[in-house]
Parts: sequence; C-alpha cells; structure tokens
Amino acid sequence: MELPLTEPFKTKMVENIYRSTGSEREMWIKEASLNLFNLRSEQVIIDLLTDSGTGAMSDKQWSAMMLGDESYAGASSFYKLKDAIKDLTGFNYFLPAHQGRAAENVLFSVLVKEGDIVPGNSHFDTTKGHIEFRKAQAVDCTIDEAGDTTSGHLFKGNVDLEKLEQVLKANPAEKISCVIVTVTNNTAGGQPVSMSNIREAGKLSHKYGVKFIIDAARFAENAYFIRMREDGYAEKEIRDIAREMFSYADGMTMSSKKDAIVNMGGFTAFREEGLYQLASTFNIIYEGFLTYGGMSGRDMNALAQGLYEGTELPYLESRINQVAYLGSKMKEYGIPLLEPYGGHAIFIDAKKFLPHIPKEEFPAQTLAIELYLEGGVRGVEIGALMADRDPVTRQNRYPDLEMVRLALPRRVYSNNHMDYVAAVVRNVFDRRNMVKRGVQIEWEAPIMRHFTVKLNRF
Ligand SMILES: *Cc1c(COP(=O)(O)O)cnc(C)c1O
Repeated sequence: MELPLTEPFKTKMVENIYRSTGSEREMWIKEASLNLFNLRSEQVIIDLLTDSGTGAMSDKQWSAMMLGDESYAGASSFYKLKDAIKDLTGFNYFLPAHQGRAAENVLFSVLVKEGDIVPGNSHFDTTKGHIEFRKAQAVDCTIDEAGDTTSGHLFKGNVDLEKLEQVLKANPAEKISCVIVTVTNNTAGGQPVSMSNIREAGKLSHKYGVKFIIDAARFAENAYFIRMREDGYAEKEIRDIAREMFSYADGMTMSSKKDAIVNMGGFTAFREEGLYQLASTFNIIYEGFLTYGGMSGRDMNALAQGLYEGTELPYLESRINQVAYLGSKMKEYGIPLLEPYGGHAIFIDAKKFLPHIPKEEFPAQTLAIELYLEGGVRGVEIGALMADRDPVTRQNRYPDLEMVRLALPRRVYSNNHMDYVAAVVRNVFDRRNMVKRGVQIEWEAPIMRHFTVKLNRF
C-alpha cells in the first residue's frame, strides 16, 4: 500500500495539560466576563485561540539561540537574519521589529496620513487598527466569493482587481498610502491568494503610482497552496514560489510568529533604499536600533532558522494536512464550515450553526463560549465583535462572515487532539437548540474591542 505521510518531526519535550471539569470552566468563563482572551492558559485544554507565536521551535532553533549575538550594533545574528530574508524574499533592506503589528506601525508611520486610503484584501485587525488610528480608511477589495462559505473558489483570498482599480482610479495617488495584500488572507478564513492575482494587483498598483506591500505573515502556507492549486507551480520549490510572490512587491511586513515558527518577532523589508531610510527613523524611535529593533540576538537567530524550516515542503504538507484532517472530521459530523479549509485554521460558520441567535447577540462569540464550556477548547470569534464599530458612525459593523476560528499552533498538537476537538464541536452541535440566547456587551474599548470586551448573557 501507499505509505501515509507522517509528521517530519518527533517530540523531545512535553508540556502537561490540565483536564478541567465542566463546573470549573463554568466558573472561570464567568470570571473572564465571557471573553476567552481573559482565561488563563491553565484553564484551557486545547488552545486554538491563535497560531500566532504558539508554535513549537525545533532543536535547531533552540541551538541557534545559544549562538545569539547580543551586541547593540552590528550583531552577527542581525546579518544572519538579513541573509535569510534576502534569500527568501529578494528584499535587500530589512528592519527587525518585536512583532508584526510593530512592523506595521513603523511602515505606516511613513506611508499613512490622515484622510488616506489603504486598499487591500480584508486587512488583518491590527493592520486596520493602525490605519484607522491614523484617521485613514482601509478599503476591502476582496473578491465576493470570500463572503460565501460554500463557494469552492480555490483562491478565496484574492483581490478583486476591478474593485481595486476603481479605488485607484477614484483617488489621487497621494491619497493612497499603499496597496496591501495579505497572504494568506487571514480575515477571509486563511484563504490563499494566487500568484497571478498577486502579480496583477502589483502591476495595477504600480500603474497608478502606488506602492505594493505584502503582509506576509503566512507567506509559506500561501506558497504551498499556489503549488497545490495553481497551474505551472506543481513542480516548483516552495522557496522559489515565495521568491516570485515577493518579486512583485515593494516591501513587506511580517509577523514572524506565524510562518517563521518563532514565539515572538517581526520585521519590515524593502526593495529600495528610500523607503527603508524613511522607515529607519521610526524603527529607532519605536523598536530599537537598526540591527536589533525589539529583538534579542538569540531571537533573530531562531527566526533565521525558522524561516527556512517554515518553507520546507514536508513540514507544510503535514501542517496543512492536519488542518484539513480536523476539517474533514467536523464535516463528517455535519458541522457547517468555511470551505475550502484554510491554511492555519478551520472556521465554523456560526450563522448556520446557531441560526436562531440574531446577529446583535453575537452568535460566533456565543458558540466560542459553548465550545469552551463543553470541552475546554478555546477558539476565537471572527465576526461582528472583531469587526468593531464604524469609526465615523460608531454603528456596529456586521461582516458577511460570522465565524469561530480554530487555529492550529504549528507542530504542537497531535491528530488525537484534533479528534477531541471535533467531538467537542459535535456535542455542542447536537445540543445547539438548547443555546437559547447570545451575549451582549457590558463594556468595550474604543478600538480593537474584542481583545478586552466584557460580556453578559441575555
Ligand atoms: C498576526 C498578524 C499580524 C500582526 O502580527 P503580530 O505579530 O500579532 O503583531 C498582521 N497581519 C497578519 C495577516 C497576521 O496574521
């Protein structure tokens, strides 16, 4: 028989999980104001809140840490990382930052001013936060199929090039900070963006004299999907696909906590010296000197190694297959899911799961709470709570997709854990009609409210 694929790694160190009881969880979630971000990690059995910074580093990464150079200026770790970034992206210039949003802060300090417009494909929440905080506007130009959880479109993360061109046509180039394309498209469900779409979006931006930036948090997973789904890439190396993706861009922001498999870190990188120089000043103010920018030498070393491990085909195969394994188990149980499955997470369609809960009662948050109560599984709401209020009208925004995301940390859980998660979701699905009401907001912050919101049950 054909041999199945196995994980291309084995476990060297384990972390114990406390198996809480239902009544403990009932008490803890109340104390947490029904906000899963307020739970302590010991109160969680399977933590699928995020795949960000939660991955397991390899022995090679840990040993690279021992060789970290902690010099303030000119550390060898900086140059090691610079070489890795140049090799994988083609960008000559790079600035370290302590995480992805810090990289965004540095880049947007250069590019975004009040009244600007930043078109893209469903900007990530911190990206949108940084744009709106500067009184600029993030315009979502994602293809319409992204809003349809059952559309089989293979690149649902794509930019709608017509929508993008309309925005570029309707506004002078000075008013458009940049076009930012996020790969994979996290907000649309970890959906990939095709190579041809990246290329065309880049061309279009340049035609209108606008910079084209890639938010590259999951660039390796995106490259994997291009290899699997786009004509002409089946035989290509992941790294070559990544290099081509970046070849169409002027620069990038990176949350290294995703595809670079480190627990903390980020960077910006640029093709031209000009943008790099402008960003350098802000990097020094916000992050630190040019050769460390918020990172220790040891962390830069681990990141350089992680960038290579995250772009290895056997690793990506096992990762994306694990996500699909969880998806297919849940699908077997009849759970309404976003398809095709994303690269880093499975998204449950809460509107279909709890159709009797009105949108004003936050069905996805309600479902996330139920999954926690049922089996200590922590997911995250990607819906109206996260979509926040319109910055101008202060009205709640209700996005097309109202979902619970179960994001898989890299190299952390086994498929047995996935079976457990699927069983938890199934049990809640079987008793979904007993979930009578949703939740309401007791307190919220003026921006990015989902992190700190306090909720009540109706
Ligand atoms: C996580 C993420 C960010 C922000 O990065 P942090 O490291 O969490 O600050 C930005 N964009 C995308 C697409 C992300 O997934």
